[in-house]
Amino acid sequence: MTVKARVDSPVQQYLEALHRRVAELRDGDLASYIPELTRADPEWFGIAIATVDGQVYQVGDSRQPFTIQSVSKPFVYGLALADLGVEQVLAKVGVEPSGEAFNSISLEPGTGRPLNPMINAGAIATTGLIVGDSPQQREQRILEMFARYTGHPMTIDARVYASEARTGHRNRALAHLMRTFDIIETDPEPGLDLYFRQCAMLVTCCDLALMGAALANNGVNPVTGVRALPAAQVARVLSVMSSCGMYDYSGEWLYNVGMPAKSGVGGGIVAVLPGQVGIAVFSPRLDARGNSCRGIRVCEQISRDFDLHLFHTSRSTSAAIIRARYSAAQVSSQRRRRLGERDALTQQGDRVLVYALQGELTIGATESLVHEVLDALVGLEVLILDLAWVINVDQAAARLLADLARSVTDAGCTVLIAGAANTAAVRELVARAWPQSQELGVFQFMDSDQALEWAEDRLLAALTAPDPEVPLLDNDLCLTLSEPERAGLAMIAQRLEFAPGELVFRAGAPADALFLIARGRFEVRRPAAEQPSRRSSTLVPGMYFGELPLASGQPRSADVVARDGGTCWRIPFAAIDAGLRIRLLSTMAARLAERLAQQERMRCS
Ligand code: GLN
Repeated sequence: MTVKARVDSPVQQYLEALHRRVAELRDGDLASYIPELTRADPEWFGIAIATVDGQVYQVGDSRQPFTIQSVSKPFVYGLALADLGVEQVLAKVGVEPSGEAFNSISLEPGTGRPLNPMINAGAIATTGLIVGDSPQQREQRILEMFARYTGHPMTIDARVYASEARTGHRNRALAHLMRTFDIIETDPEPGLDLYFRQCAMLVTCCDLALMGAALANNGVNPVTGVRALPAAQVARVLSVMSSCGMYDYSGEWLYNVGMPAKSGVGGGIVAVLPGQVGIAVFSPRLDARGNSCRGIRVCEQISRDFDLHLFHTSRSTSAAIIRARYSAAQVSSQRRRRLGERDALTQQGDRVLVYALQGELTIGATESLVHEVLDALVGLEVLILDLAWVINVDQAAARLLADLARSVTDAGCTVLIAGAANTAAVRELVARAWPQSQELGVFQFMDSDQALEWAEDRLLAALTAPDPEVPLLDNDLCLTLSEPERAGLAMIAQRLEFAPGELVFRAGAPADALFLIARGRFEVRRPAAEQPSRRSSTLVPGMYFGELPLASGQPRSADVVARDGGTCWRIPFAAIDAGLRIRLLSTMAARLAERLAQQERMRCS
């Protein structure tokens, strides 16, 4: 697997500047209790960040291999959980922070159970739990597990392994002590040996960042898409990293940096921001607690600069998720309506309220939305929730929305859900929140425009009679004409009947007449490429179409079709005299201005 580095981004520039600054820090010493580790170059210094989208940023010695040491512990713990299940693992290793050094003899009084899997005692016991028929097979399973995190086969540094196996008396003592408590139930030596081998596995900073990103990505390597850890175990692994990952510095680390993390005496640190990134630093000079000095400095700085502390949450209010809120009096659907209908909607439109929501609906913001909607419920007939810009709905928010819809429908108001189909996650949660939606009075629409049209129709059906035939002189275009002009128009109008589905004219055709609708609905269909998301408008009796070429001289810009058949008056351009032409153009201009103003309101709402 090759990981593509991003070099052109501001994140890269930030990392380079940070690397330059922190490189000045020369505090700390190489680990020497494992003799082979003193061969490291104290100046080695790499930083890498991997995102859950699989972007990797790296700087400095980010490709220099070093031994993983204790950074291996949470990952092997994850494998043990996957192998045996949480109960069996908890029976042997606790999850309580010890507040003591990594090599302390922190065993629970009485049971001998190590306090947690991040200190050596707990890690040795955990490695001993890994399932396999032989020591070789167990080692193979551990290496394969790490390969799923990094995306490539892993190797062990034979010299570092031999060095620790020869000198690790304290770890050997811990293992034998745990044998006396039956925490380790068989010969402790093979498990101990495997632990030394696991610690001597070679990684790069880039590997560690990807391992962290896989944990951040709910257990899946974001570059290869391979699952490294069952999703059910991810939170457990991150929890022990949060409380115990930095040994006796864990409390201060959580306070200052605020991310689950793990360090190792090889100089590596990995930190995880769940759902977002894995951060890795490699610099072998360690402080007294065995944590990389530059590693701590880098993580503190990144956390501060990007506000990554887990517990730093921006206030979630309904304002954050409400993109727009408007009534049918302020904004109309694309469906064009006659003057009388438009007046009715302006007067009664407050009975239809649209909430266009956006971003991630979480419990906090959704809860304040619920309050706001319930306060606006008096006199409301239709509530439209437009989810087109929502990218995710968590379980809690989905429940709240379902409850909201129930309260709203109980109050006699209809709920329309629009735009839920855009995003898979939203679609799924909506389907789960309203399984038999129709019965509940909850209806779904492709987009807010169609929902709004439905709501308008409902308001108008209650207010106006169904479309009667509109006489020529009652057409919107004739209302402002003088008596002689009306008489003139009546003289030149030709009455035309259209069959259902019949084409009145086609886009691109030369234009020689305008049409006034007497009866039936006419659909304006624009060529698909022009306005892919908007449906074209539907025109009803009393409206007119095909008038723009009278001003522009251009060919037809859209098809017009008689939906279910209908009647129009055709006014040939050639028959319109100069005086009437000016009157018609000024009426059309006034209507256009009105429509533009409406669209403007829609954009600003
Ligand atoms: N292999 C090392 C040990 O057991 C790991 C310790 C560490 O990285 N903190 O001592």
